[in-house]
Amino acid sequence: MKSKKAIIIGGGIAGLCAGVYLRKNGFETEILEMHSIAGGLATAWKRSGYTFENCVHWFVGSKDGEDLNATWKEVFDVGKLQFHYDPVYQVIEKGGSSLMIYRDINRLEEELLAKAPEDAGEIRQFTRLVRKLSFMKLPGGDHLVGRLYSYLRAAPYLWRAGKYSKFTMGEYAQRFSNRLLRRFFSSGFKELSLLAIAFSLAWMSKGNAGYPIGGSLALIGFIEEQYKKLGGVLRLNTKVERIIVENGRSVGVILEGGESLMSDVVVSAADGHATIFHFLQGRFLSEKIEKVFETYKPFPSYIQVSLGIDSDFGDKPGFIAICLDRPIMIDPKTNADTLSFRIFNFDPTFASQGKTAVVCFIPTYNHEYWTSLREGNKSRYAAEKERVAGMALEVLEEKFPEAQGKIEVVDVATPATVIRYTGNWKGSMEGWLYTPSTGIKQLPLTLPNLKNFYMIGQWVSPGGGLPSGLVTAREAAKKICRENRVKFRAS
Ligand SMILES: Cc1cc2nc3c(=O)[nH]c(=O)nc-3n(C[C@H](O)[C@H](O)[C@H](O)COP(=O)(O)OP(=O)(O)OC[C@H]3O[C@@H](n4cnc5c(N)ncnc54)[C@H](O)[C@@H]3O)c2cc1C
Repeated sequence: MKSKKAIIIGGGIAGLCAGVYLRKNGFETEILEMHSIAGGLATAWKRSGYTFENCVHWFVGSKDGEDLNATWKEVFDVGKLQFHYDPVYQVIEKGGSSLMIYRDINRLEEELLAKAPEDAGEIRQFTRLVRKLSFMKLPGGDHLVGRLYSYLRAAPYLWRAGKYSKFTMGEYAQRFSNRLLRRFFSSGFKELSLLAIAFSLAWMSKGNAGYPIGGSLALIGFIEEQYKKLGGVLRLNTKVERIIVENGRSVGVILEGGESLMSDVVVSAADGHATIFHFLQGRFLSEKIEKVFETYKPFPSYIQVSLGIDSDFGDKPGFIAICLDRPIMIDPKTNADTLSFRIFNFDPTFASQGKTAVVCFIPTYNHEYWTSLREGNKSRYAAEKERVAGMALEVLEEKFPEAQGKIEVVDVATPATVIRYTGNWKGSMEGWLYTPSTGIKQLPLTLPNLKNFYMIGQWVSPGGGLPSGLVTAREAAKKICRENRVKFRAS
């Protein structure tokens, strides 16, 4: 029997994972990716001998036998990645005082109690929560009985987490008197659910959220290799314009330039807003989807200042958040009171010996400012990039004067860059924010009145992240198999 064909729009982590699962189940697959490389947001770029990482801080599933590890192994050989576990996840610093965010929860508790004894009660409650979550196994599984059992096992932990699920990071920060602790909870994304950070610390404390040496390029490279080994086709520089719908079924796509490609199934692993409102022209909406786009908030976009430094910076922390005395103006609607630097002295593949790639990540919701400058005023756009890079450099050099005169490369990416290269709505870095009101409940992978169509990736899974691509791709592949009477095989 001729195998059925699936077209997958987007070669980010979700699209690649879907490709692997569908190839394993006998589908002919073609991934259409508009960029010249696969990876989407999970990417990095090379400039004058330095590699500048865009994404991965932690890869949940890095430890054998822990949450998600077995699922990643269905998609690629995780053993090919070498993971780095810095004992200190982050240093938060303000005016000479600092707070170490250790991965080990006992060490973290000791550090917080020593630096903020005035907050002892709240610190103990929070570390107790993280400790509890670190014992929990994520519920799931392919078989009903196993799944029910896994939910029962997770129930006590979920119950405890429930008590904290109503807090955003910003609200929770108010419970602390210590200014550095307040900064820790509020310097990221204030509206993010407190549980997001609690789960991340729990995964880190059990060694299940390592950094893969080689970063995104290594990770994506292994998945792409596996997909191609299974016979999957990846077509780069290929932008989808429309999904073709006939008699309530998606039957193919139209590419930029007009070429039509027909298929039995279409999976969109591209941006959620573009999929619903552009590829499908808003024809398959439900109240639920409309409500999501009206009420959910995306993660912000960002400016990334990347620096190539001719110094090994070996004694510097891998990740430092420097709290500023006075906020700095990033764009007309964005002031930053903290600048975070990732100092990749732990990844020897990112620079030649004695040199270091450093990346400063600055969130902004003002994507319009950057896109309209780029479109309408190239020289001001360049000047604005230079201004922000200059401010980041000043903060870095004030903290580490030895960097002065050693900067070999300065590269600035803005929300306009993110939109151009990944098509993500508003340049969002991670899809929908996971907030107390959204929860982590997945959105439907299908649309009303449209057969043979599936949506996967960060826009159907509040909180986003690499795991959202893996998990939603697997789930969609299972559904596609069921609908095509194929027994789903994952390994
Ligand atoms: C700074 C930063 C740090 C992060 N840190 C982490 C971390 O430490 N751990 C973690 O788990 N996650 C992290 N994330 C989040 C993670 O990178 C994303 O959630 C994840 O990569 C999203 O994958 P995706 O496949 O759903 O979407 P994307 O990566 O956006 O992939 C979508 C793909 O579709 C393509 N596409 C779009 N439109 C079209 C079209 N019309 N035609 C053809 N192709 C199209 C795009 O080019 C893109 O390749 C981070 C993200 C950022 C930006």
